[in-house]
Amino acid sequence: MPTSLIQPEFRVEIDYNKCHKCGRCVQQCGWGVYSFNERPYPDDSKCRACHRCVTYCPAHCITIKKNDLALRDNANWSPELRKNVWRQAESGGVMLTGMGNDKPYLKIFDHLVLDACQVTNPSIDPLREPMELRTYLGRKPDSVEVEANGEGGYRLKPGSGVENNVKLDTPLIFAPMSYGSVSLNVHKSLAMAAERLGILMNTGEGGLHADLYPYGNNVIVQVASGRFGVSPEYLNRGAAIEIKIGQGAKPGIGGHLPGEKINKEVSTTRMIPQGTDAISPAPHHDIYSIEDLRQLIYSLKEASGYKPVGVKIAAVHNVGAIASGVVRAGADYVYLDGFTGGTGAAPAIIRDHVGIPIEIAIAVVDQRLREEGIRNQASIIAAGSIRSSADMAKAIALGADVVAIGSATLMALGCHLCQGCHTGCCSWGLTTQKPELTRRLDPEWGAERLTNLVHAWSHELQEILGALGVNAVESLRGSRERLRAVGLDKQTCDILGVKPAGL
Ligand code: SF4
Ligand code: SF4
Repeated sequence: MPTSLIQPEFRVEIDYNKCHKCGRCVQQCGWGVYSFNERPYPDDSKCRACHRCVTYCPAHCITIKKNDLALRDNANWSPELRKNVWRQAESGGVMLTGMGNDKPYLKIFDHLVLDACQVTNPSIDPLREPMELRTYLGRKPDSVEVEANGEGGYRLKPGSGVENNVKLDTPLIFAPMSYGSVSLNVHKSLAMAAERLGILMNTGEGGLHADLYPYGNNVIVQVASGRFGVSPEYLNRGAAIEIKIGQGAKPGIGGHLPGEKINKEVSTTRMIPQGTDAISPAPHHDIYSIEDLRQLIYSLKEASGYKPVGVKIAAVHNVGAIASGVVRAGADYVYLDGFTGGTGAAPAIIRDHVGIPIEIAIAVVDQRLREEGIRNQASIIAAGSIRSSADMAKAIALGADVVAIGSATLMALGCHLCQGCHTGCCSWGLTTQKPELTRRLDPEWGAERLTNLVHAWSHELQEILGALGVNAVESLRGSRERLRAVGLDKQTCDILGVKPAGL
């Protein structure tokens, strides 16, 4: 009997006429595709198309092609579904995967377009006029008092309730990715870039490595159900604290970091034994109601000198009511994570089929909080496959204050979306703890690329604002009137609060 019915997903072809026989492909591949005996020999079955070898081959003689099996056509059973049945018949287990949902669901952002100024409503030239992208994360009071600042101007009266807001120089932060799921050099790149950009990175649920303590003013420290790395010092190091309830890629599912990724440093940072699996259960065992959540929010505020405390939830049905409860429980921000969000590891069946789109979640949460008169009591952070500055602008127009990017940051650092993060063998040195792989990412190089990416998106956002004739990102927030839908049904338009193009 054959050991497997599954054919390789990719074909690795080497043009041996051009090959230098240098062996670099063997060194670069984290998946063990290549063996070397006078020349490289690829084992197709191990290839994940991460393109590390292709990028580093000095002779440019490697080609990776999709292995389009000549399986008999069947509109009901795609080749992927058939392969999955074969896989599970072999393994008897849940299929794990990494990165975000890759199924061709309708991407609502791609069916929204932004309005533009013309003659009667003039546009603004962002190269010559000031364009304000600064925003503040946190709870705002219903009204503030001002007083003379002694220099002919005014300032907010002390105690006006905005002192603990966190300033962001652009309405974007780096999404939570835990130390352990990603390497320390990824965390360093994110922290250094966040400091240079005047924004925030987020520890995810893995604690904060001591090397990152100096960056605390640009860090959100997360408290997940596993409580990894949580201590008074940890809480006080961050600019804000986030309680993680859910994740867009796997709503209702807890975290699982395999023991192989828990090396000495991850173990110290997470405060767990080396080599043991780190499991954060789906529920927090001290939160079973909004009242419980309120208690934890205020405990964390007490423990940290009243730093802003946010709550991260996955985008799911009834998210408007859930967000309302979160805000009423005292959260300073609600972090909404949509179902195309990334993950280090998740059951593929959950990642691809559970949750709702982020666009819908932003619109209904913003609307619900406005209707209840509590919109200014919390900021909204939107995440889950924010792929460009256009997605950022559309998310803000739908009602978000700030967006968070995770997959895009990893791509800036080299990720080619091969979806093998859960294996711990990332050839790009990102989602791995193997020293021979993690050293591939130079944090200084990474920080520069992340800084460039966010600068580029911020410039583009300024261009978009100028085209809309507004000079501050605050003026775009919740301006659904500036959006039009192309190819969305009426019900979706109604839920989004967006008119079809032409109206
Ligand atoms: S890296 Fe390229 S040139 Fe070097 S051995 Fe591999 S295929 Fe040949
Ligand atoms: S982070 Fe690495 S393993 Fe994960 S998808 Fe990107 S390249 Fe692949």
